[in-house]
Amino acid sequence: MKNKNMENTDTKPKIKMAIYWGAACGGCCVSVLDVHESLFDIVAAADLVFWPIALDFKYKDVEAMPDKHIDLTLFNGAIRNSENEHIAKLLRQKSKILVAYGSCAHMGGIPGLANFSNKKEIFNRVYHETESTENPDKITPQTKHEVKEGILELPVFYNDVLTLNQVIDVDYYLPGCPPQTERLVEVFTAIVSGAELPPKGSVIGALEKPQCDDCKREKTDKKIVKKFYRPWEIEDDGKTCFLEQGIICMGPATRGGCGNARCVVGNAPCRGCYGPTEDVIDPGAKMLSAIASVIDSTDPDEIDKIIEDIPDTGGTFYRFSLPSAVLRRKVMEQ
Ligand code: SF4
Ligand code: SF4
Repeated sequence: MKNKNMENTDTKPKIKMAIYWGAACGGCCVSVLDVHESLFDIVAAADLVFWPIALDFKYKDVEAMPDKHIDLTLFNGAIRNSENEHIAKLLRQKSKILVAYGSCAHMGGIPGLANFSNKKEIFNRVYHETESTENPDKITPQTKHEVKEGILELPVFYNDVLTLNQVIDVDYYLPGCPPQTERLVEVFTAIVSGAELPPKGSVIGALEKPQCDDCKREKTDKKIVKKFYRPWEIEDDGKTCFLEQGIICMGPATRGGCGNARCVVGNAPCRGCYGPTEDVIDPGAKMLSAIASVIDSTDPDEIDKIIEDIPDTGGTFYRFSLPSAVLRRKVMEQ
């Protein structure tokens, strides 16, 4: 994909750029500011035409733009409600290149773990059951409420959390929770310089090989694990592969590119935020295979017992990816 319209030199106009968050924590927007002094290069090459977290633009400003008016949109966050979906569709219509920025837009991310429950359960817990809730009239949010000044509206809360590409066509995916700022600068520079871009639909700013390929920890490739632990239950020796110490590390099922397994370098196991490589259909299935390769037993009952020690397998294996995984959600009564 050649971005001819985006060549940017001192004599050429700046590109128009938008940044938006759907269901997200705000970390992706902060990661844009984390480029530090490179922010001056970004604003020298791009006019920010929409970025609600930082600048006072209104939705009607975007609605008034001609189609494809925005050269580049970075959309972070999953689709949790009707407002997220509406703005995703609006920005798609107004943007030449739209990037799913960060794990939540890419795969559903942490908000996607809500697919282990449903709207009814979430509303019950949040509005009726939490220890700090006092709601004797059992009021829950309504999408329309009439007051004397007029009608107040709230977005419709969906039963499922969706990935961005489950509601709109996405050009590229820049993974990470949040994406590493160095990768953002590289991708941005490629786009504004008019470089040849990879085929539409590609994951950019990441590698095709798993984290383990870049990891410097020692691996024996032997079956040596009799028990799995949470990281705080065992003293990490600082040099042996986490998995071989019985600590779940998502490295085998996770795409490299964050910076030589950045968390592992900091002595924390990889949590999987860059998502699976192209050849991994499902990160949970890949991790089961990796785990099977380190368990020291051939006795089915003992293997069952060892696997039972893995805490919260769903949340661990699909921490960032549940809505995009084969599993997608827990099947339950609506
Ligand atoms: S499982 Fe984790 S610690 Fe082990 S080699 Fe892979 S990335 Fe490194
Ligand atoms: S090591 Fe894993 S969890 Fe940490 S930043 Fe890299 S991909 Fe994300």
